[in-house]
Amino acid sequence: MSAPRGARWTSALAGLVLALSLGGCRAEAAQDPSRPSDAPKQAPAPESARQADEFAADPAPSGRRALRWIEGFCALGPRVPGTAGAEKARAAIVAAIRAAGVEPKLVPLRMSTTRGELEFVNVLVELPGKSSKRVVWGAHYDTPDVREDPYWQSEFPEGSLFVGANDGGSGIAVLLELLRALRARGVGEVGHSFLFLDGEERIGPPPFNPTLDDPKANACFGARGQVAKWRDAKHLPEAFVLLDMVGDRELDLVRETTYSDARLLELFQRAAKSAGLEKTQLVGERGMMDDHVPFQAAGVPSIDLIDWTYGPPDARGRAGAYWHTPADTPDKLSAPSLETTAKLCLAALPELERFARGER
Ligand SMILES: [Zn+2]
Repeated sequence: MSAPRGARWTSALAGLVLALSLGGCRAEAAQDPSRPSDAPKQAPAPESARQADEFAADPAPSGRRALRWIEGFCALGPRVPGTAGAEKARAAIVAAIRAAGVEPKLVPLRMSTTRGELEFVNVLVELPGKSSKRVVWGAHYDTPDVREDPYWQSEFPEGSLFVGANDGGSGIAVLLELLRALRARGVGEVGHSFLFLDGEERIGPPPFNPTLDDPKANACFGARGQVAKWRDAKHLPEAFVLLDMVGDRELDLVRETTYSDARLLELFQRAAKSAGLEKTQLVGERGMMDDHVPFQAAGVPSIDLIDWTYGPPDARGRAGAYWHTPADTPDKLSAPSLETTAKLCLAALPELERFARGER
């Protein structure tokens, strides 16, 4: 999930009070073979066949299906970039995409980190439209290496895990629901790409720095690498919509106003109104650095749909007691919240496609 940079935050607005949010992600430890106690207890096989059957019966987004998928995803264990855990996570994502009848691409990216050059791997699905214009929907699947530095270690007692149910799981599950829905809709005027991002979490000392082209950037590796690749190929999209921490039981998506495009914020607020969600969603306001920052920096209008209050108030003044702790587990999420996020996105779709076509 996203990491804040204190000075960049705008203060939370009173509207935040209206929404409650609790979510949870879970901390995880790096997949270190020397620490067998950190290994997940079991890794259930992706239920692709059942997913395919269910989808054939009803392509409408299902929060229940999304939550069940997150439970299986988190049971795979931590998803630290470059580890076997990340590979297992990608396999699960790929299986779910194939169950929707689409073939994904893997996008390997070598990026510079404080641990030297590491490979990050995004999973990409492209649903072409009648025109070359396209919208990219993104979410990250990685979890941080919580043994790496004092910041993480303080939240994760030895033996505890970070499985990132909300932070790294919820956005992916909703992305899969949107992919199924748009695939079922058929070819539209505008193309839609789905980007399952690696390496959002910080590697190395704070502060969180996702600045595009900054050699000292220490986060959003998958997003930065993908943006650079598309920029070089002159293949940047017309809009980018990021989903992060969107499954909290008490969902209150916030207006991320510091880096998100103002037109997209207004567009999604109109969508919230049309879907009857305007009293609870996109009410409060604050700044948030996340995977949308490098897209916005490259000139792609972008928005981060994120719920910043996750769990009971945190005395440390952070996102909530479940954020970046072992408590970020699937039981902190709910099917209605996941479905609400998907419905909001689909409500925004017509206007978003007009935006992408240049009818702004
Ligand atoms: Zn995070």
